[in-house]
Amino acid sequence: MSEPDPPLAVLLELTHRCPLRCPYCSNPLELERRGDELDTATWRRVIAEAAELGALQVHFSGGEPTVRHDLEALVACAAGLGLYTNLITAGVLLDEARVGRLVEAGLDHVQLSIQGVDAAEADRIGGLKGGHARKLEAARWVRAAGLPLTLNAPVHRQNLECLEDIIALAVELGAKRLEVAHVQYYGWGLKNRAALMPTRAQLERATELVEAARVRLKGVLVIDYVVPDYYAQRPKSCMGGWGRMFLNITPSGKVLPCHAAETIPELAFERVTERGLAEIWRDSPAFERFRGTSWMPEPCTSCDRREIDWGGCRCQALAITGDAANTDPACGLSPRHAEILALADAESARAAPAFDYRRMAKPLAVEA
Ligand code: SF4
Ligand code: SF4
Repeated sequence: MSEPDPPLAVLLELTHRCPLRCPYCSNPLELERRGDELDTATWRRVIAEAAELGALQVHFSGGEPTVRHDLEALVACAAGLGLYTNLITAGVLLDEARVGRLVEAGLDHVQLSIQGVDAAEADRIGGLKGGHARKLEAARWVRAAGLPLTLNAPVHRQNLECLEDIIALAVELGAKRLEVAHVQYYGWGLKNRAALMPTRAQLERATELVEAARVRLKGVLVIDYVVPDYYAQRPKSCMGGWGRMFLNITPSGKVLPCHAAETIPELAFERVTERGLAEIWRDSPAFERFRGTSWMPEPCTSCDRREIDWGGCRCQALAITGDAANTDPACGLSPRHAEILALADAESARAAPAFDYRRMAKPLAVEA
């Protein structure tokens, strides 16, 4: 067995707590509780192990990472080890002083999520009254502090109509990058798929808008565009390939090859409290299971894209075909491709049901 290259980035899910309740949240349906979260000393050790392993970037995520009062200490730890630090946040708990403390700690970049442009509608989608207004304030503090800002806009059938305004908002807020990301159907997104699935006409219009905006805003705003898998012809290179570039660590310390990997029942995940990060990355059975190309079925095995998209997404293969080891059905060469297209057409054709909002057993006090 050859030694894998080090990961480019580690994503630390410091907590699953969040004041928002997005119906497409990538966190698992079974959210980890506050009492199970790793403590500051353990996160510091994990960050040091990530640096030792050769990772270059640390992404502080969640849930909402700013609910952790030790965020500044963890950012300072990562920055002190020379790691690039990115905060992935909903922004609603930030204030100007905290942004200043994060800058002092060495934070390099902020990625802020938005649900739309109309405050009432964005608050309805995110499930937090007043959330949109707080996000706008947070974005302005981030820019005023001199931090580069990326806006992340998860899009779906209930907000795609305001895509043009989302792009304009990104420019107005001084973001350098906008991620227009069609929501992914795992976890809460899968549960709410019928409420989120865009129509083919919406998708085509959105793609045209993005292409035109990319030309118009060249040098002003970079727009990343993630298309919905269900309408794709070739799958995305999920996580840049399983166990190749990224790892996720859950609030309680489970090490995952991707944020949705826990949906695959055959996999067992090791914890940073039980074994070193380097050992887990090198030979944990959960990482080895779909690493490289040897696990692949046909048509991937003989396909010249097998080291480009790495067979697509394992969690999607499981969700649609019932077997995580199948070719991602988003691929037009998959024998199950027609099923995913039929699902997209059927779900987008019917009236959207009410959202089944993300929820924890014990919500945060700040929740509306
Ligand atoms: S997707 Fe929404 S609910 Fe989930 S962590 Fe992000 S802001 Fe919170
Ligand atoms: S057959 Fe497999 S490797 Fe080829 S494009 Fe489809 S998913 Fe990718």
